[in-house]
Amino acid sequence: MRPFTYTRPTDARAAVAIAVREPDAKFLAGGTNLLDLMKTGVEHPAQVVDVSRLPLAGIEEREGGVRIGAMARNSDVANHPLIRERYPVLSQALVAGASPQLRNMATMGGNLMQRTRCYYFYDPTYAECNKRNPGSGCAARTGEQRLHAILGASDACIATHPGDMAVALAVLDAVIRVTGPQGARTRRISAVAS
Ligand SMILES: Cc1cc2nc3c(=O)[nH]c(=O)nc-3n(C[C@H](O)[C@H](O)[C@H](O)COP(=O)(O)OP(=O)(O)OC[C@H]3O[C@@H](n4cnc5c(N)ncnc54)[C@H](O)[C@@H]3O)c2cc1C
Ligand code: SF4
Repeated sequence: MRPFTYTRPTDARAAVAIAVREPDAKFLAGGTNLLDLMKTGVEHPAQVVDVSRLPLAGIEEREGGVRIGAMARNSDVANHPLIRERYPVLSQALVAGASPQLRNMATMGGNLMQRTRCYYFYDPTYAECNKRNPGSGCAARTGEQRLHAILGASDACIATHPGDMAVALAVLDAVIRVTGPQGARTRRISAVAS
């Protein structure tokens, strides 16, 4: 096992500051994707920044819509009365994914940021994967292409985002608010996807 440092900041600004200081840091939320990738050696962060206990799990009515925190668990969002009544597509998309145990752990932020399920990305025995190892090539272009992109691919990578939830958020024209070194920014998820 590769050694790494574990930290648990108490607010989002502190979490961002750590990630800026340590470019090899990775945020840990529910861990359902990151820990699998660490076990297989695809991800090897020098620092794991545990954001799972940040107070960002709210699901609140806001200005005619709903605001959902990055740490809200997928099960809590899918089962929330506001989401089930007003945004059933989001509830259905979440329930379509994974299993109840995984949805109890998985967070909204982690779901959006989960890595692609490209077979070659997941298996470090394949040397060619530009996403895992920039400049190495793309094994999928001449290999197994089920689940890969038909539209919006590039010569460097034909992988897709694997999540169901992001599709529902795009249908709902959702806005994502991210905090980074330059402060908070908002983007429509449809603009991020394109
Ligand atoms: C067996 C299995 C089946 C699955 N099936 C489906 C499926 O059918 N449909 C589907 O959509 N998904 C599926 N998933 C994926 C699952 O939805 C994701 O693993 C989960 O949503 C990730 O959330 P998490 O909180 O556990 O993220 P983590 O594993 O903690 O993190 C995932 C990534 O997001 C980053 N990250 C996490 N939170 C933040 C944040 N707040 N800000 C910035 N970066 C962040 C992490 O650094 C990491 O790179 C499946 C997973 C498994 C293991
Ligand atoms: S499509 Fe190619 S570059 Fe992209 S993740 Fe898969 S193997 Fe890697």
